[in-house]
Amino acid sequence: MPIKILVCDPIDPEGIEKLKKAGFNVDIAPSITKQDLEKRVQEYEVLIVRSRTKVTRKVIECGKRLRLIARAGVGLDNIDLKAAEERRITVINTPEASADSVAELTIGLMIVLARQIILADSLMKQGKWSKRELKGRLLKGKKLGLIGLGNIGLRVARIAKTMGMKILVTKRTPPSSELLESLEADFLTLDELLRQSDIISIHVPLSEETKHMIGAEEINKMKDGVLLINTSRGGIVDEKALLDALRSGKICAAALDVYEVEPPQNFELIKMPNVVCTPHIGAQTFEAQKKASVILAEKIIRFFRSS
Ligand code: NAD
Repeated sequence: MPIKILVCDPIDPEGIEKLKKAGFNVDIAPSITKQDLEKRVQEYEVLIVRSRTKVTRKVIECGKRLRLIARAGVGLDNIDLKAAEERRITVINTPEASADSVAELTIGLMIVLARQIILADSLMKQGKWSKRELKGRLLKGKKLGLIGLGNIGLRVARIAKTMGMKILVTKRTPPSSELLESLEADFLTLDELLRQSDIISIHVPLSEETKHMIGAEEINKMKDGVLLINTSRGGIVDEKALLDALRSGKICAAALDVYEVEPPQNFELIKMPNVVCTPHIGAQTFEAQKKASVILAEKIIRFFRSS
């Protein structure tokens, strides 16, 4: 009997073709509802998801034949990992596929904030030539504080270094001295990083430990007029505290790609004139989507060949 795979979210077709060619039986249901998934999951050995589908304990318990949950992307916060572990179901993802795309978006957002590009564009479209009011900030020579230096944080650091920025890093375990030297970066505690950075960019996963890692207390420690970028996960920044800080000017401007609830409900935050928002598009490039789908297919094929 061929192994059955259910694709629960939209995935680039190249990976799906690879799986079919390798002899898997692939069903595609990119807008499957929670109820339908709970009913249909019992037929499948593999679930492929992106971030839309929530693989809850209930889904895992209903999936009597499940052996593998494959996430095309990075964050695993939409999968109940504890329930999967209890049932000895393997969970895989593709962090290597989208890191460059998220890093490029982060750098783009940083420049957008520093030069008020969105405001400039909107004033131009209103027929206004507001050259004098649109004075921006130079990034060269500024201190960029990176919270997290994994796949994405490291790529952001490398690009920012070539722009002449000073890199500050905090993470759970110290990076190697070779890596710090190559980036000419300083490794600091979170507190020190918050106090010293001109721009702060977040690149840690969402976990119990990192939920609301940046709240009112942490914002208070930041420099006045700091710029904040979050392309990691909503929930790492306390949105209420962020809104207060944007209102008071403590945080001069923020760029957000991710939100505590997606799609977001907190339009007060999104409508702030000093907030630039994108709808979780960090990994949303043609290249990253294709790469994620192909890498995931290869990992699935390897999993069944070696087991
Ligand atoms: P990674 O696992 O490669 O790196 C995570 C980094 O965070 C590591 O340096 C780790 O040491 C550090 N870290 C973990 N917990 C920490 C803690 N409690 N305190 C300090 N540092 C801690 O992850 P990545 O692939 O670089 O992804 C980073 C973030 O970007 C994740 O939240 C991921 O979900 C998100 N992401 C977003 C998009 C998007 O579309 N916007 C796409 C891909 C990934």
